[in-house]
Amino acid sequence: MAFDYDLFVIGGGSAGVRAARIAAGEHGAKVALAEEYRMGGTCVIRGCVPKKLMVFASSFPGEVADAQAYGWDAQIGAFNWGQFRSQLDAELDRLERAYRNNAGRAGVEIFDCRATLAGPHEVRLADGCEFTAKHILIATGGRPVVPEKWREAGCMTSNEVFLMDRLPKSILIVGGGYIASEFACIFNGLGVKTTQFYRGAQILRGFDEEARGHIANEMQDNGIDLHLGTDIMEMERRDSGTWVKATTGHDGTYEAVLFATGRRPNTDGLGLEELGLELGPNGAIPVDRYSQSRIPSIYAVGDVTDRANLTPVAIREGHAFADTVFGGTPTYFDHGLIPTAIFTQPEFGTVGLSEEEARAQGPVDVYSTAFRPMRSLFAGRNARALMKLIVCRKTDKVLGCHIVAEHSGEMIQLAGVAVAMGATKADFDRTLAVHPTMAEELVTMRTPTRSYGD
Ligand code: NDP
Repeated sequence: MAFDYDLFVIGGGSAGVRAARIAAGEHGAKVALAEEYRMGGTCVIRGCVPKKLMVFASSFPGEVADAQAYGWDAQIGAFNWGQFRSQLDAELDRLERAYRNNAGRAGVEIFDCRATLAGPHEVRLADGCEFTAKHILIATGGRPVVPEKWREAGCMTSNEVFLMDRLPKSILIVGGGYIASEFACIFNGLGVKTTQFYRGAQILRGFDEEARGHIANEMQDNGIDLHLGTDIMEMERRDSGTWVKATTGHDGTYEAVLFATGRRPNTDGLGLEELGLELGPNGAIPVDRYSQSRIPSIYAVGDVTDRANLTPVAIREGHAFADTVFGGTPTYFDHGLIPTAIFTQPEFGTVGLSEEEARAQGPVDVYSTAFRPMRSLFAGRNARALMKLIVCRKTDKVLGCHIVAEHSGEMIQLAGVAVAMGATKADFDRTLAVHPTMAEELVTMRTPTRSYGD
């Protein structure tokens, strides 16, 4: 049977665009891609990129305060959200064009339209056009979810935060994950009175416990009013803002409320269930390690599969799919070791096992040091950095590396190479310290802080 395309990609985000570009540009496939909103997806349009630019914007008051401590006659004026937003919009337009042009240059035909499945090889566009494709790749990403009870309350999610007309004077952020914690730091840095509610015992569930505690302390020291074990019980719109009563009895009024309570794969109405494809409990498409669903012609990559919802993972999954299906080289992304950074202030860079995960696997030595870095110490700040290595007692391999410090995202990228190569503690010890830096602590910790197991 002759198909209109070798590949039809639904979704123009990081995963879909990479898969389409590699399939068309490197492997010569005839490829079409449909995107219903803007090319670039969550990362470029309403995620990593605008978030990181807001992180930069929010860091300047701290920089100026440090500059004063270093002898500069520096003053920070008012923050002009309108100016920042126009510049942000222009930058996102530029990036969107780059995504579109790169895909186009590779030979990908782009449809600015919603697409759904009409069969195992059939795609239907919202304008009524139908196409056939030998393979269909779903890369529709995910979207923020607000708890059912508050869905109609008109609060913001991370989708709306970049579209605010003005900066609120006060904000309540609900959630304790990546997004909630990053935005709490951003708003706090921008001078917004920031409160964060998290229902659990400590933010950033799943990460190394010592690191989580360290970050939470630093965030509170920086002025964030963090309430642990706290959820919203009542919420009411009033003239003065949104009045909220917490499960702890605490109440307050906030100009804005931001829910960062998780994300859900975008599979609603795609037509997958009609084809007999059973979805995961949160709507994710189950796939094998080659990203193939139970319908052989249909693959899925990125957040829609809810494996590890990170841009570089989505890109690798998309690339591996294209190499497997069109390049004749079966390739898959190994989700076992993922270095990542959380852009709280201070940042958190992490790779490998947490202390808790490693302990459960066998005997380990933990090397951990918390200290006041030179730069902030001189400026009279109490900020502390944390450097931590988890080492397998039997093999001496470094199983985990966790850094809470300014620029730890940059540091963990490189430490991640060593950990991925299977570096041992002896390899770290043999490496000469780069002095004076914060990261030198990673190669100068000689005595375990704690040891577990025989
Ligand atoms: P997460 O799943 O990380 O966090 C969701 C948070 O909301 C958790 O603290 C969760 O609590 C809480 N929560 C969930 N449901 C409710 C509820 N009904 N009431 C109150 N609280 C609730 O999701 P995020 O939205 O923060 O981020 C989504 C994904 O995006 C991340 O997993 C990450 O992969 C990616 N991301 C990556 C970034 C980076 O690389 N720097 C930045 C931003 C996002 P509990 O812990 O108790 O379940």
